[in-house]
Order: sequence, then structure tokens, then C-alpha cells
Amino acid sequence: MALAPSDAEVRVRFAPSPTGYLHVGGVRTLLFNWLYAKNRGGKLILRIEDTDQKRSTRESEQLMMSDIHGLDIDYDEGPDKPGPYGPYRQSERMGIYADHARKLLDAGKAFYCFCTDEEITRKREVAMKMGKQPLYDGTCRKVSRAEADARLKKGDKAGIRFMAPDQDIAFDDAVRGTVTFKAGTIGDFMITRTPTDEELEKGLGDGLGMPVYNFAVVVDDALMKINHVLRAEEHLANTPKQIMLFEALGFPVPKFAHMAMVLGSDRQKLSKRNGDTSTHDYLAKGFLPDAMLNFLSLLGWWPPAELKPASGHPEILSRAELIRTFSLDGLQKAAAVFDMQKLLWMNSFYIKALSGSEVAKLARPYFEASELPAVAEGVKKNSEAWLISVMEAVKGSVNLISELPQAAAFLFGAEGELDASAKEVLSQPTAGDVVKAFEAALQARPEKLTEQDVADIQKEVGAKTSSKGKLLFMPMRVAATGQAHGPELKLVIPLLGREGVLKRVNLVKRQMGLA
Ligand code: GLU
Repeated sequence: MALAPSDAEVRVRFAPSPTGYLHVGGVRTLLFNWLYAKNRGGKLILRIEDTDQKRSTRESEQLMMSDIHGLDIDYDEGPDKPGPYGPYRQSERMGIYADHARKLLDAGKAFYCFCTDEEITRKREVAMKMGKQPLYDGTCRKVSRAEADARLKKGDKAGIRFMAPDQDIAFDDAVRGTVTFKAGTIGDFMITRTPTDEELEKGLGDGLGMPVYNFAVVVDDALMKINHVLRAEEHLANTPKQIMLFEALGFPVPKFAHMAMVLGSDRQKLSKRNGDTSTHDYLAKGFLPDAMLNFLSLLGWWPPAELKPASGHPEILSRAELIRTFSLDGLQKAAAVFDMQKLLWMNSFYIKALSGSEVAKLARPYFEASELPAVAEGVKKNSEAWLISVMEAVKGSVNLISELPQAAAFLFGAEGELDASAKEVLSQPTAGDVVKAFEAALQARPEKLTEQDVADIQKEVGAKTSSKGKLLFMPMRVAATGQAHGPELKLVIPLLGREGVLKRVNLVKRQMGLA
């Protein structure tokens, strides 16, 4: 079998069907293609597979492209990036498929098939009843070309069926090793569908029916000079048909890598039922592109052991590190499990690593859209510098950018009810004394407070109440912020100022029956 030369420039493609949103599993396919192209100094092509006219929409295509841009993944050629092998939308390549289908007809490697869907279904049922594989029975193989042309002239309709060679098909998959499909398991298969009246009227398939997926993909991969096909495992069963077509058309066969499945936490294929799958929703919730890509890169791929990430954590890998170390050798055969907790943890890691001003920029729209009026109005009233300090204080206590307005609400003077954990802190017998001593220490100080003031206040309250550890810090935290958990007091108190803290202390005292 003719293989693509290994020293050629690597050309890979991501080929989504625009029939909905961009699935996170699809992003993993895109990511591995992108990493491979970048690692090898090659090119990534975006091809829109929109031959299913009923299900494909331009809105879906636009949404997918905007999510790809949102993830900060660039491609070299695509519908919005002209290149030498366009057009990059299958619906705009109908004439090309028709030409290649005719080439196969003329070479005697394909034939017109006049069988109707009902006939095919009936024959399949009979074959299955007899315990035989339901392969095409060859009825139209026997129809001569002259006879077929005459029937077409008469108005009969036909699709084109490929004459599948009766031989083993073996190929070397970069993930799965040698994969063999035995002779006699693949029957003659359709490469263009029987055209409908409407398609013929509109001249849609250039006089022929719409191309079938396996055929369009082969023609495109060949003409777009794709030499490595990295795609989901579910396409493995299509590969022998595609190899037959590459060979029949005289094209080199690309190298294949079929990537392991991504499973949900229930170990079923990741789907809407067992998790969120819309990339758009992830981005909208405030998952950071870098965190998403880092997380997805570890679903079915292992970095080389010698990589020592600059983050200091073995699983936190920068884009540059991923690009530098990505190779097909690291792809795993075993299915990968999408662990939501791990993704949240990674996202929190990436948020923490950003500067206050970077977080402020990402978070501002979420603050402006907050349902808490104090927050939505407060963010407009206060300066950018203030928002940046707020982000410095709270960025360590969230997993998602969208959680920041809630986490920072107390800094905007938003008055919420105390939650169960805050109430529990205040129910400790010594909590009342700590809160009162805290109030007194604040009253003795100026409006503007520094980190040093906070340390002094803590010492003073500790000495006065003979409390220490959690029994000292937790009631002070709840008194100052209304929350049992959150950012460090030394960051929060200077932001709130003395009056801001005293206001909250008063509220808490009232709730404790102390005021
Ligand atoms: N359009 C196909 C899909 O969305 C991908 C085809 C391929 O990678 O060969 O599943």
C-alpha cells in the first residue's frame, strides 16, 4: 500500500459536522491535531463536513468556529482562512466529489445501483435470517454500463456503489497497532446516494446524488494533502472502506491514529446524560481555555516522563510544554474518564496563577451581570484598581470565573443571610467574646487598615479573650465577611476598611443576640 512520505510537511485536519454545538470530546480531537501540527511544524486544516443538509446549519458552524477561537486554537486553512486546497466546506465541493465518483465508474471500480432502500432492507433481513452477513448481494454489479446509462436516460434513479475488493485490509494505527479487517466482511458500499427529485432539480450533486461520508472524506483528505488522520475511535470501522477508496483512486493512504474514547464518570460514553458536553457552556461558565486544554490533553495522552513542568505539578502543563512534548507515541489505548472534579481543580489552579488585573478583565462581565444589585452597581462605581485588589483577595477561593461575584459579594456590602457553617462558628461558647473584642480593637483604629494592622488586631483579640487557632480566627472571619470560608483576613480587611468591617460586625452581633 502506498503510504504518505514521512518527511512531508505534516498536514492534519479537524472535520466537524455542524449539526449542533462543539462537543468537548471534539475539542480533544481538535487539540491533539493542533498539538501534532504545532509539534511537527505542520498545518492544521478546518474542514466543515456539512453534506447532511437536513441537520447541518450555518449557525452551528459559526458557533463551533467561535468556540475554537474562544479556546485560542488557530488553524492554517479553513472556511474563513483561504488556502491552496479550498473550498473547505463540503457543501461547496459537490462537483469535485461527482468528478471522482465518475472516475471510479469509468475505471469499472464502481457501478450505478438502482436498488431501492426497501429492497436493500428486505435483502438484509433475509441474509440475517439465514445467519449470513448482510452485505450487498451484487444485483446491480451485473448491470452493464450501457444498460445503466439507458435506464438513467429513461428516468430511473441510481446511486453509485463502490465495488469493494475481496481482500483483507490491514493498516498500522498509531494507537492500536496493526488492525486487520478480514476479506468478505465489507460488501460493496454506496459512495453517492440515489438523488432525490429536489436534488436533481437544484443540480445539487452535479447530476449525481449527495456523496456519502466515507467517500467525501477520502476525496477531501487526498486533495487537501492530509497525511495524518487523528480522530475518534468510533471512526475505526470506517477506515477499511476509506483505505479501499484511497487505493482505488490512486491516492496515498494517510497514517491513522484512532484515539481512545472519553467516558463520563459512569464509564459510559461522555454524553449529555452523564455530564456537560457543550464547549460553549464550559467557556460561558468561566472555565479558562488553558485549563480546558490542559485537562483535555491528559484524556488519552501521557506526557513523556522526562518532562518536568514549570508549574511544579506533574499534570499542570503549559501550552508550550504540550506542544514541545506531544507525540503520537503518548496516545493511550485505554478509554479516558472525564473527571469533573479534576477539571474544576485545574481551573482553580489556573485562576490563581493569573494576576489580579487579568482576573478582573475576565470577571468584569460576570460582575456587571450579577443578580446581586450591590455587586452589579458596585462594580460600575468603583475603580478598576479596587476591582483588581478585590480579585487578588478572592481569586484563590473559586473554581470558576463565574463564581467570583458571589465570592466577592461581601466586599460590595451585599448583605446575605449567614449560612449553616457561619452559624456554627458563631455558636461556639467563646465566639461572642471574640466578636466583641474584635469590634473594640477596630474602633480603636483609623479607617484605613493595613496588613500589619490586621496582624496586630488578631494578636490583641487573642490576648484579650485567651483564644487561639480556629476559635480565634473563625469568629473574626465570620464577623468581618459573613462567611466561614474565603480569602485571608489580611487581604479582606484592608479592602473593606474599618467602617466596612464594623458594619458587618454589627449585623453579626445582631444575629447573635449581642446587640
Ligand atoms: N465529520 C466527522 C465527525 O464529525 C469526522 C470525520 C473524520 O474525522 O474522518 O465525526
